Amino acid sequence: MAEVIDGKSVAADVVSKVKALTAELSAKGATRPGLAVVIVGEDPASQVYVASKSRTAKECGFHSLQHTLPAETTEEQLLKTIGDLNADPSIHGILVQLPLPGHIDAGKVIQTIAPEKDVDGFHFINVGKLGTGELETAFVPCTPAGSMLLIQRVRGKDLSGLNAVVVGRSNIVGKPMANLLLAANCTVTIAHSRTKDLPALARTADILVAAVGRPEMIKGDWVKPGATVIDVGINRMPAPEKGEGKSRLVGDVVYAEAAAVAGAITPVPGGVGPMTIAMLMANTVASAYLAAGLKRPSF
Ligand code: NAP
Repeated sequence: MAEVIDGKSVAADVVSKVKALTAELSAKGATRPGLAVVIVGEDPASQVYVASKSRTAKECGFHSLQHTLPAETTEEQLLKTIGDLNADPSIHGILVQLPLPGHIDAGKVIQTIAPEKDVDGFHFINVGKLGTGELETAFVPCTPAGSMLLIQRVRGKDLSGLNAVVVGRSNIVGKPMANLLLAANCTVTIAHSRTKDLPALARTADILVAAVGRPEMIKGDWVKPGATVIDVGINRMPAPEKGEGKSRLVGDVVYAEAAAVAGAITPVPGGVGPMTIAMLMANTVASAYLAAGLKRPSF
């Protein structure tokens, strides 16, 4: 059976390192890290994510600010809020919770965030830095950054010679994941909905990352024996066996089948999921170190 990669425990390690770095920063007399989370409207799932981000920020000792704006907020008002946060020296990270209401251009909003405060890593400057290997100053999107940390726990930092297949080419997971693997010297293939014979391609992967959003699409016989399998997918499925109206989370991989073949695998839940918020904290403390003219901490 595969080693189960415990994302909860790695995420807890990251958060405790962030706490220690925050305390060190205060001891040096620098401004404590500040994270501003902006939410527009009352989408219940977004409210849960935002509350959890703010809670973890406080736990890390950050100055944590939340702007909850009504659904009818205009694009101009939101851009003004971001402009104010860009200019605020007590804020090192700005996160705009997506999705935004339809009348607001999310792309425009994200590109308005100052790149040095873009702790989600979605600004073109950060995308470009990751693409060109400028990892010392880039902010990398949190989910792939967290996935990479899990891979490194199993395989070490230098992945030279390994074949990686990333299934999914979104801007927030698939593409940045592929760039991180490339920067770590993997031979990388990105697969997507138009890829031919995905099972055969997946079987070439020493590192297989699934970021598709299709429940249990990747079967056990798609997995190369000994491979490291990272399941980014989070799919909520009805679970009548747990009671009426109950649901359960499954990944993009058939876990039991893949675990019988893989060398290591992330479970869902408890794998990649907990890493995302932890890496948001890591990016924010890194931003505060850079703003104070200090060396960027590594994770
Ligand atoms: P997305 O934007 O919908 O992208 C999905 C990708 O999968 C697309 O590139 C798509 O290909 C590809 N795809 C769809 N059907 C396919 C098929 N049959 N064969 C091969 N490729 C296929 O999704 P995302 O935002 O990257 O998220 C992916 C999953 O990760 C979701 O389950 C999401 O909930 C989860 N997620 C988890 C976290 C976390 O753990 N915190 C964070 C973000 C996302 P095309 O480009 O050709 O359409």
